Amino acid sequence: MIEYQNGIHIKGTGLWLDAKRKVDFSFISHAHIDHAVRHREILATKQTTRLYEHRFGKAKINILEYNRPKRFLHKSKSEGGVKVELFPSGHILGGAQILMEIGGVRIVYTGDFKLRKCLTAKEAEVKKCDILIMESTFGLPRYIFPDRKEITKRITEFVDQSLSWGEVPIFLAYSLGKAQEIMKILGNRGYKTCVHGTIFDLSKIYEGFGIRFKNYKLFKAENLEGRVLIVPPWVRGSEMIKNIPKKRMAVLTGWALDSGIKNLFGTDEAFPLSDHADYKELMEYARLVEPKKIYTVHGFPEFPDFLRKEGFDAEQLKESAEATKTFSTETRLGKEVLLNYDLFQKS
Ligand SMILES: [Zn+2]
Repeated sequence: MIEYQNGIHIKGTGLWLDAKRKVDFSFISHAHIDHAVRHREILATKQTTRLYEHRFGKAKINILEYNRPKRFLHKSKSEGGVKVELFPSGHILGGAQILMEIGGVRIVYTGDFKLRKCLTAKEAEVKKCDILIMESTFGLPRYIFPDRKEITKRITEFVDQSLSWGEVPIFLAYSLGKAQEIMKILGNRGYKTCVHGTIFDLSKIYEGFGIRFKNYKLFKAENLEGRVLIVPPWVRGSEMIKNIPKKRMAVLTGWALDSGIKNLFGTDEAFPLSDHADYKELMEYARLVEPKKIYTVHGFPEFPDFLRKEGFDAEQLKESAEATKTFSTETRLGKEVLLNYDLFQKS
């Protein structure tokens, strides 16, 4: 029923889920570059569509609001077509999970998600289904994030200390989602920020959907005084950063729970502010959904073992060797994490 090769394909339908090569018709769970390429026709929320067009240009678009089921008959071999419904994933602006009903079977694909609340994405919902295809990036027991208050406290202490020492606090945060979350956290607390151009443009789109940010400016060297600088990770070695004489850098990523991450990014600090579910949330999500079958994607191969220990029928969706070679989106500590940041977050 499910095929996994450069994206997920629901057999018997023309529908792909986050296809990573050009296809006729794909659901786009959110506008991160590792989940989207240019397609002939897409299905997404209006926020994702706007972000997608900003990054990839125009496509034939089917906009679906959250919680408004719709039947797609076209390109479907199964009688009655596919009934689909999008619902919030809690990941970034516009992020959606999809529920598909085909011949009485309910399938949910989560895309990237988290259950924790944040300031810039609608809180995730959970729907019961028979087959669950779930993202599982942080699917090992050692990945349990501290609570948000604690992370925010560590972040603001870092900022206060840097500013008091006359140093520019710099956050490496990918340009869509993470950057807006830290802008919001800092802006709400009265800090002034300065942001890289890619972040600035995407933040304007957020503002178009009612998520507003306080006290921020587009980056210019003369704007730095008393401000926190937010840039995407790929600019960390650039002249722009090198030319700032006094600075302290921190990376914002769930991988901050691993000890080597500061060295990997060449930063003074690393804080585990993440857009993904941690291990505890992944398990909780599975318990709430109670599916008959779970397929995991984007994660450690060991995660299904932990699900099976809890009584679930779970396995990792395996991509063909060829597809893995051409476009691996596995996120792992080590070079690959860094590579992913550089490749996927550049535009
Ligand atoms: Zn994502």
